Amino acid sequence: MKGKLVIISGPSGCGKTTVCSHLTQEPNIKKSISFTTRAPRAYEKDGVHYHFISRDAFYKRIDEGRFAEYAEYCGNLYGTSLDHLTKALENGLIYLLEIDVHGASQIRKKFPEVITIFLIPPDEETLEERLVKRNTNNKAEVDERLEIAKDEYKYRDNYKHCIVNDKLDDTIKKIRKVLELG
Ligand code: ADP
Ligand code: 5GP
Repeated sequence: MKGKLVIISGPSGCGKTTVCSHLTQEPNIKKSISFTTRAPRAYEKDGVHYHFISRDAFYKRIDEGRFAEYAEYCGNLYGTSLDHLTKALENGLIYLLEIDVHGASQIRKKFPEVITIFLIPPDEETLEERLVKRNTNNKAEVDERLEIAKDEYKYRDNYKHCIVNDKLDDTIKKIRKVLELG
């Protein structure tokens, strides 16, 4: 395997997408574009933020073995294309998977050399503030995501690197160090 596979997990709102969008400013770092049955948010574009597909199309892809991993989160399915992942690694890229804790377990089994990072918000209040400020989920959805976060923390010991995302610049520096980017 020529490239480097990297998982970034952590509770919704902790800053995974923000961190990934900084890291992918480098040409040799790409983020996997997941498939999902979730409805697009106002600013999200098909093929850019996610590949938005129907539940039936998602099940078909599962049957065809086209996912490296997949999981259900808040009633929607999310999955990583095996084909895209294999090609990225063949091309020597650093390939970021922004996936949940259950998908991460599946990837760990298939790709034991994967680098695993768990992003942690500074505290619960900050997590809630970030979810509210992002303004992409209603109150009930924010509450559901905060509830799921309590369960997600239990998986953090399965990750080699746990990084608190307080000041964004510091977080990026720490991740660059983990990825040996100097
Ligand atoms: P996730 O992808 O983990 O759900 P996002 O990247 O969407 O989280 O971040 C949630 C919100 O928090 C966004 O509004 C983002 O701008 C903000 N955010 C992310 N990282 C930081 C940080 N280090 N400091 C302050 N705000 C942040
Ligand atoms: P959101 O709806 O906020 O975009 O994502 C919700 C959750 O789904 C986040 O924890 C995110 O990391 C996770 N997720 C996004 N894409 C994938 C994927 O391809 N596989 C898995 N297992 N989780 C994903």
